[in-house]
Amino acid sequence: MKHLEIQNVSQSFGDIHVLDGISLSVSEGEFVSVLGPSGSGKSTLFGIIGGLINPNFGDILLNGKSIKGKRGSISYTPQTSSLLPWRTILDNVLLGQELSGKKDINLAKNMIERAGLKDYEGAYPHELSGGMKQRASFIRSVISPQSLILLDEPFSALDEFTRTDMQKWLLSMWEENTRSILFVTHNIEEAIFLSDRIIILSPRPATVLEEYKVPFERPRQEELLLTEEFLQFKKEIYQQMKSVQM
Ligand code: ADP
Ligand code: MG
Repeated sequence: MKHLEIQNVSQSFGDIHVLDGISLSVSEGEFVSVLGPSGSGKSTLFGIIGGLINPNFGDILLNGKSIKGKRGSISYTPQTSSLLPWRTILDNVLLGQELSGKKDINLAKNMIERAGLKDYEGAYPHELSGGMKQRASFIRSVISPQSLILLDEPFSALDEFTRTDMQKWLLSMWEENTRSILFVTHNIEEAIFLSDRIIILSPRPATVLEEYKVPFERPRQEELLLTEEFLQFKKEIYQQMKSVQM
């Protein structure tokens, strides 16, 4: 069954035409990545799905019902850290759960510990580095109760090691709880490692260029990244994206 359907969404800001007739869908329990160059309109698309932007054209359906312009039905964290400065890290992480009335402090604490932030539970956002803030807002969206999660480049500020760690953690979370994830990234390797399907956007105004089904079995291990098949697939996507950059 289709969990999320984006139907023919177009968006302009004044003279800037950002999205041009984007249609895509996410099935129940599926992990889909949207891969596109910087400035192609990925965050704009997510803002529309999250209900923060009411699009000029098109519709957004969640379980068959329009959620266009409505917030709260999807767990959505904007690209830039959205931690509330007057709340501690623990209280920030609990925010999504609090809004829905189902607070699980043990789960939140466990996640904070796994993300290496145990000593910062009681700290305020300004006391954390960029990467730490990113991890905290990532935990918040992942433990929110909604069944569809939007993640907008959640690992971009992390160093390689932490990044791989967080990717593995995200995968194990997703494998444990059947939830649907729509993930934005401009990193090809990350998109392949994580996803069932990859949707490639063109440069602005963004259209859907191509869609790939990722042929690798789950659960996926880090070693996959070094196999010939993985590198070949990465190359194919790279060339596809490169062909429209010039
Ligand atoms: P991406 O996330 O793919 O890097 P964005 O969606 O952030 O791209 O931005 C796509 C384009 O839309 C950029 O050129 C950006 O300047 C423009 N844009 C985004 N939001 C607004 C806005 N509220 N007003 C005007 N222009 C915007
Ligand atoms: Mg963006």
